[in-house]
Amino acid sequence: MKHIPEIELKSKEEIKSFQETKLQELLQYLQQHSPFYQQHFAKHGIAIASVKKLEDLTQIPVTTKDDLQQFNWNFLCVPKSKIVEFASTSGTLGKPVTIPLTDNDLHRLAYNECISFACADGTSDDLYQLMLTLDRQFMAGIAYYEGIRKLGAGLVRVGPGLPAMQWETIQRLQPTTLVAVPSFIVKLIEYARQNGIDPNMSSVKKAICIGEGLRNEAFNLNVIGKRITDAWDIKLYSTYASTEMQTAFTECSQGIGGHHHPELLILEVLDEQGMPVKPGEAGEVTITTLGVEAMPLLRYKTGDIAVAYTGPCACGRTTQRLGPVLGRKQQLIKLKGTTIYPPGVFELLNDMSSIRDYVVEASTGELGTDELKLHIVVSEDMKDEIRQRLSTVFQSRLRVVPEIYFATPQELEKLQFGKIDRKIRKFIDNR
Ligand SMILES: [Zn+2]
Repeated sequence: MKHIPEIELKSKEEIKSFQETKLQELLQYLQQHSPFYQQHFAKHGIAIASVKKLEDLTQIPVTTKDDLQQFNWNFLCVPKSKIVEFASTSGTLGKPVTIPLTDNDLHRLAYNECISFACADGTSDDLYQLMLTLDRQFMAGIAYYEGIRKLGAGLVRVGPGLPAMQWETIQRLQPTTLVAVPSFIVKLIEYARQNGIDPNMSSVKKAICIGEGLRNEAFNLNVIGKRITDAWDIKLYSTYASTEMQTAFTECSQGIGGHHHPELLILEVLDEQGMPVKPGEAGEVTITTLGVEAMPLLRYKTGDIAVAYTGPCACGRTTQRLGPVLGRKQQLIKLKGTTIYPPGVFELLNDMSSIRDYVVEASTGELGTDELKLHIVVSEDMKDEIRQRLSTVFQSRLRVVPEIYFATPQELEKLQFGKIDRKIRKFIDNR
């Protein structure tokens, strides 16, 4: 039971009352130190003394990404001289946000990642190979680094990409665990196959999968997850986090959602009206940070849609678990009465090996309703078969069939690369 904080083994009532004490501390801290929340409370007539229970949180209007983008430095609760690290969001959706950290915040981050890696069966005997960036203001990079150090395990910082160097390092230093994006692990497997390396003969026993989903709603491995484990007999653990929350939800060996750390975060799952969803329903992940000194957030809407689970877990933790992220809230597509998120569409397309590449496009139809187009690349002789298979699969799985367009690799490439950034886009929103 090492590295399981006591609070994560308590009853739901004890956890709730623990969080309520922490919430009151936070509200007082914000009232004293946060220019943004001082104004927020005044503007909405919030008397913080009346917010005692977790249920009372709904009295306070939520904080949005837009608030953080517009008033970034008004969220700062400490003098700038106390900041030791400046992390930032990726800025994939609009202007990047700076999240500064104090020394205490870095300790909190290390604690968070230490208990998260321990949750994913990590011990001081493990050697982690980090296949991700440790610079570019990427908070997760330092979080993993500090967390692994705190766990007492070893680490190798290879950085992102470079399959040849990754394999050379695996063979030379014998790591037990990878920390990587799942689609990159697929590339590692491809490289191994082409270069006569048998992944199963390597020292690697598990992988912490960051940045992308690993499972479907039923907690089964998704197409990428299966592609990895079919070729490589390692255990996969999914982890979900964001810069703003400075906290991770990481799976234990049961693989049934990322565990909530109640000492670090208050978790709410909200509907479109900002009210908690019914148990087991999907909603927007909304967080309140606990113990953050520089830029704490109260009821911050992440934009990620997921389901929270409250049932017991065989690992002994009594905390909530957060299921796979189903999609981004603003990417929700309403197609003929059915609600779809792009990752659900990607999953169906990833499953058909004859589809070489694709772009999913959402647009607004003549009647103002959402329309969905698939631009796909397949070989000439497969077109009829693919069109039929897609119709059947979409009809049975999502109950609607998008419009299908066949594209040449050149046409698809034009769609994939945006005018502003050079990131490959799988989803284009023209609504
Ligand atoms: Zn568990």
